[in-house]
Amino acid sequence: MSRWRALVVMAHPDDMEFSCAGTLARWAIQGAEITLCIATDGSTGTQDRELMGRRLHEIRVQESEAAAKVVGIQHLEWLDLRDGYVEYTLDLRRDVARLFRRHRPHRFVVLDPTPTIEDRFINHPDHRAIGQACLDVSMTAGTTPGHFPELLDEGLDPWRGLRELWIAGPGLKPRLVDISETIERKIEALRCHRSQVGDRSDEVEQFVREFTAELGRSAGFSHAESFRVISQGPGFHAGEQEDEVDLGDLAEAPTDLRSAKA
Ligand SMILES: [Zn+2]
Repeated sequence: MSRWRALVVMAHPDDMEFSCAGTLARWAIQGAEITLCIATDGSTGTQDRELMGRRLHEIRVQESEAAAKVVGIQHLEWLDLRDGYVEYTLDLRRDVARLFRRHRPHRFVVLDPTPTIEDRFINHPDHRAIGQACLDVSMTAGTTPGHFPELLDEGLDPWRGLRELWIAGPGLKPRLVDISETIERKIEALRCHRSQVGDRSDEVEQFVREFTAELGRSAGFSHAESFRVISQGPGFHAGEQEDEVDLGDLAEAPTDLRSAKA
């Protein structure tokens, strides 16, 4: 049995930690090979005019490397797009298709591109553009040779072995994963982002503990993360024999959308 692979594409250096670090840590413990790609350079995530720009980017690379290690992510890559300026272009779609074909994921974790979250707040424009490009690649440019044939010249064949697309990000989603055993790793990974949490790290920790506890309550999990999981579509389940990888057992449950408020 070969190891199964997860590709996680996020917009900013701390998106993974807030949205899915507990789940990825579980997958890492189960033996998955995990690649995280951070699409932007994280260079504008500050109110400090002295810090913004390349200097902040360099700090955030170090923070992200430390956090990835805590979670158990083996590979970290950057697309180096300018933080806050991402637009959905064909170039972006090609960049994501290149990643998808190169890493050939069984699970593809992407950001929710929904413009507004639960009538409460606006989803970041970088999340929307990158999330939408990832969704589209999973059914077009990642899986079909006629989309960006130049990728064939790079030796990158379409990948048709995706099993599941996991949509992560803020807002309550229909599937809960039990992260009771990995909540400490999630918190420790978040604390690595000192340029972001800084003096507020205790506050952030408390918020994350309460939020994940509230989310898990309806399923009897001490802490949970929620996702939308899609497992069917063109290009799914076709690339390798089904029995070649075992995605393992995930303690999970449907979200009780009426009672959970997180
Ligand atoms: Zn973000």
